[in-house]
Amino acid sequence: MKKITSVCPYCGAGCKLKLVVDGGKIIRAEAADGKTNQNELCLKGYYGWDFLNDTKLLTPRLTQPMIRYERGGKFTPVSWEEAIRYTARRLSEIKAKYGPRSIMTTGSSRGTGNETNYVMQKFARGVINTNNVDCCARVCHGPSVAGLQETLGNGAMSNSIGDIENSRCLLVFGYNCADSHPIVARRVIKARQKGAKIIVCDPRRIETARIADQHLQLKNGCNMALVNAFGYVLLEEELYDKDYVASFTTGLDEYRETVKDYAPEAVEHLTGVPAKQVRQAMRTYAAAPSATIMWGMGVTQFGQAVDVVKGLSSLALLTGNLGREHVGVGPVRGQNNVQGACDMGVIPNQFPGYQNVVDADVRAKFAKAWGIDVAAMDDKVGVRITEVPHLALEGKVKAYYIMGEDPLQTEADLGLVRKGFEALEFVVVQDIFMTKTAEQADVLLPATSWGEHGGVFTCADRGFQRFEKAIEPKYNVKRDWEIISLIATEMGYPMHYDNNQQIWDELRELCPLFYGVTYEKMGDMGHVQWPCPTLDHPGTPYLYQNNKFDTPDGKGHLFAAPWRAPAERPDADFPLVLCTVREVGHYSCRSMTGNCAALQTLADEPGFVQINPADAEALGIKDKQLVWVESRRGKVITRADVNERINHGSVYMTYQWWIGACNELTQDNLDPISKTPETKYCAVRVSAINDQ
Ligand code: SF4
Repeated sequence: MKKITSVCPYCGAGCKLKLVVDGGKIIRAEAADGKTNQNELCLKGYYGWDFLNDTKLLTPRLTQPMIRYERGGKFTPVSWEEAIRYTARRLSEIKAKYGPRSIMTTGSSRGTGNETNYVMQKFARGVINTNNVDCCARVCHGPSVAGLQETLGNGAMSNSIGDIENSRCLLVFGYNCADSHPIVARRVIKARQKGAKIIVCDPRRIETARIADQHLQLKNGCNMALVNAFGYVLLEEELYDKDYVASFTTGLDEYRETVKDYAPEAVEHLTGVPAKQVRQAMRTYAAAPSATIMWGMGVTQFGQAVDVVKGLSSLALLTGNLGREHVGVGPVRGQNNVQGACDMGVIPNQFPGYQNVVDADVRAKFAKAWGIDVAAMDDKVGVRITEVPHLALEGKVKAYYIMGEDPLQTEADLGLVRKGFEALEFVVVQDIFMTKTAEQADVLLPATSWGEHGGVFTCADRGFQRFEKAIEPKYNVKRDWEIISLIATEMGYPMHYDNNQQIWDELRELCPLFYGVTYEKMGDMGHVQWPCPTLDHPGTPYLYQNNKFDTPDGKGHLFAAPWRAPAERPDADFPLVLCTVREVGHYSCRSMTGNCAALQTLADEPGFVQINPADAEALGIKDKQLVWVESRRGKVITRADVNERINHGSVYMTYQWWIGACNELTQDNLDPISKTPETKYCAVRVSAINDQ
């Protein structure tokens, strides 16, 4: 029996665990003393490894390469040589015929690790010659990255997960940590136990609201109006830190001009929050000796998400809650390595280390390091995942190389996404399971899973952590970066790596932010937070020390914008708002957690729709009754969860269920800057199914 140190492959909390291996099989997981989790795990950490043991509860494992030579035909098992040769030939033909920008690629924010993401974007930029590379950050915290880069300079948490409990005030906005990051929720509880004030802004009475000093139960879709009202109170009541604002920020006059129309009394009808509560919340936040803002998908999955992120960071700037311990802004990243995927440049506007693709000097640096002609490199921002269906239907994207993503389950308006896929000429899926997307592929490239390989993840607080291989893979599978390297080589660009560390050392040489994060340092310290620019640098627990921001002028940029209504409002035909949410026992598209026996038994029904008792009664719906949920785009069957924590006029569904997938209903109104879809808001109707 042996115990292997790893990092949980689910959420961005970055919990360390020990995989206990006996006879080549994982038999249990134990909590380890990681920087963020300190010997605690949630149920996904304890029971989420079981998919490695052939449970086959939801989907079969991909065990060998397969090709579907004709659309509509069957998959044919093939050798690796044939799979690589065929994929390289088809990609080369499409590149030659339609140009490099006709090919889209993805990295993966899950178990594959940072090294693979680096290699995938190198493949896209250096071999295909396109910046068309993206990841699931596009549908979650893309707005946090874009917004914070503009106001503060870095698209990441400014603070550390471990320090949340030391803050004296937590403003928790659109973030249900109990379901999405249970170990971060423990930090919130600890902060409460230490006497912190907790202010929750959420339409539902979520778990955190139960321990909060104030719960501002705003109406769905009104975030910008409430954030502007917060700013209004800080200025009008002179609660803001005038010296700090004068010394370290710009934009106060414009900010004041925009928020002047958002007196809490004037927007009460819009936000649904009594003005007295709004004023009290800001008095508490501004008076606290240290305060932290945390947010999640309740902020970012809206058509006006980037503006709200900028507005939230402006509250921290107005009150001087940045640049020191126990304070900050915390977009708590969803998937275990979504921060890492962005760090590694699987985003269409930046190379690894957040270096801009439109900067000629940056392109020249990468071209030289990779031994390619700089003139061949794409000098424009590439395509985002959420634009692919539209561009495929317009004939501009022809091929899609998808690694560890399941867009046919996880993206908004699945009817539209399916149409986009039908228009593509060639789809390659590299994954560990036969996901819904894999079922539609032309080529399936089976990869090793978390547990079967090692590497580096970045958790939500910018902390790089190594994870180790626990067991040997049983099937005819290869490491993700090896598959990509073989395709690159077949396409005429020789690419070969012996191990993860070789890739890591190549990328940190190219990234000043990460240069000092060596494998040895991660081994010694366990958790190293970027920026870490030199070999003797210990990493950075909090950003913006001495209130020097990483913006071009070194200042924090105050920002407010007028509120914009969500794209699709309830009406007589579709009178309820649908909002997508998380479920604590499962993760993302459920391909991994759905294949774990213990997690599967927790929730074996096709999801739920949470509905307020008064709305349920008016519709003649009883608790646990089967119901139809219908929007202008689709209709799904699910079970009612009549729940008094739900606000009147709205219903909530998870996107994880294969039957009754709520993304059949959602719509793809995109934030104009981040191109993140508005999956938190669309109009639906719910009706009882009475013959059951
Ligand atoms: Fe920790 Fe998140 Fe894994 Fe739970 S799912 S053990 S909170 S990393």
